[in-house]
Amino acid sequence: MIEVKNLKKTYDNREALKGISLAIDEGEFYGLLGPNGAGKTTTISILSSILELDSGEVIIDNQNIEMQPKEVKKLIGVVPQEIALYEELSAYENLMFWGGLYEVPKNELSSRATELLKLFGLDQRKNDKIKNYSGGMKRRVNIASALLHQPKVLFMDEPTVGIDPQSKNLIFEVVEKLHKQGMTIVYTTHYMEEAERFCDRIGIIDDGKIIAEGTLDELRNSSSVKETIAITFLNLNDMDVKEISAFWGDMKQIENTVHFYSLNVKSDLSKLVLQCNQLGLEITNIEILKMNLETIFLKLTGKQLRD
Ligand code: ATP
Repeated sequence: MIEVKNLKKTYDNREALKGISLAIDEGEFYGLLGPNGAGKTTTISILSSILELDSGEVIIDNQNIEMQPKEVKKLIGVVPQEIALYEELSAYENLMFWGGLYEVPKNELSSRATELLKLFGLDQRKNDKIKNYSGGMKRRVNIASALLHQPKVLFMDEPTVGIDPQSKNLIFEVVEKLHKQGMTIVYTTHYMEEAERFCDRIGIIDDGKIIAEGTLDELRNSSSVKETIAITFLNLNDMDVKEISAFWGDMKQIENTVHFYSLNVKSDLSKLVLQCNQLGLEITNIEILKMNLETIFLKLTGKQLRD
């Protein structure tokens, strides 16, 4: 359904995308996961025709976004990070306005808008002005407006950032429903829980590149680690780190904590504690971290998702 080849984008002289390639199937829920500044918004903005690409190619449902922009616009629904609504109009009026732009047939538009407002739990408030809505309610209207023309593909850029739990849950429910109905969804997030919950496949993006891709299981297996033993020390200087890495190569330092990657926690734990004691290092905390996207990401990049 979506094919992206070697996408590049530079702002002034900052290279934001350094050659992104993706292939997303029809009906797939694809998550782009990465920390702030990784290039998620730039990628999804290009895919949804909000931003022009410098080089590379994007094909959506056999249409090239640069050659057939009008056809592509009909196929896609876009939920950008910035909420684009008229504050002085009601939710219903906003949807009628957006539906007009998307050329939704007039005889369908009103019932479609009403149906979507109901789906997002806003039917009781549909005639209130947007300026009286909470951030989460505005976000729900924003998503509803992207669905008016019944797109085949939905692009969502961090749709749950900074909103209340009730709105978040409603958005999750709708998104899951749309996925079950067969919509292709591309979803950016820096919340690994969301990526783990929804996504058929996840692309991990860092510094303008996809550094790993696959189902959660594939990502777990590809990083060939079972678990992480995280040991925090009272102090850790460069010499200590050198000595630690000499006896445990597969590790990463994050401030005073060292993540030791292990295939057998039971036997490795006592070995590690013994070695650290022999080096005279004072341990203040030990945690066994389950293998999840956060630990996979750390292993791959040495960075935390939430910087
Ligand atoms: P966030 O979660 O913070 O939105 P992101 O993963 O979506 O992060 P992008 O917004 O795509 O990342 O940014 C990628 C890089 O491009 C960053 O280094 C960012 O500072 C830079 N960048 C983004 N937009 C612009 C712009 N309009 N002008 C200059 N640099 C930009």
